[in-house]
Amino acid sequence: MRDPNLRLADLLIRGKKGREQTKLMNVKVPANVLNRIDQVASNLGATKTEVVIAILNEGLSSAEQELKTWKPPAKQIVPKERRCSTKGCEKERVAKGMCATCYQAARRAQGK
Ligand SMILES: [Zn+2]
Repeated sequence: MRDPNLRLADLLIRGKKGREQTKLMNVKVPANVLNRIDQVASNLGATKTEVVIAILNEGLSSAEQELKTWKPPAKQIVPKERRCSTKGCEKERVAKGMCATCYQAARRAQGK
């Protein structure tokens, strides 16, 4: 691989650049994806490796863009009236005033 920042557009223009450090990555892909990569490589007159690197760079850039504003979903807070009756448990009640975990524990304690 000659350019670690290779993009699909670069494959159309094809400039020769210095050699970069590479590492082998063995990845299984669905056969139809490989066929499509093969087709793009053939259309662009590029190697499959170059196409894969270019596609990864395109995808990584857009992923980085999208993740800039991404935040993990807020932890859901169960309203007090719907909480499990077990002291210290804040899960939602599902049966006999208890959450699924506490209900199962209670049943097990009763030997049912
Ligand atoms: Zn509970």
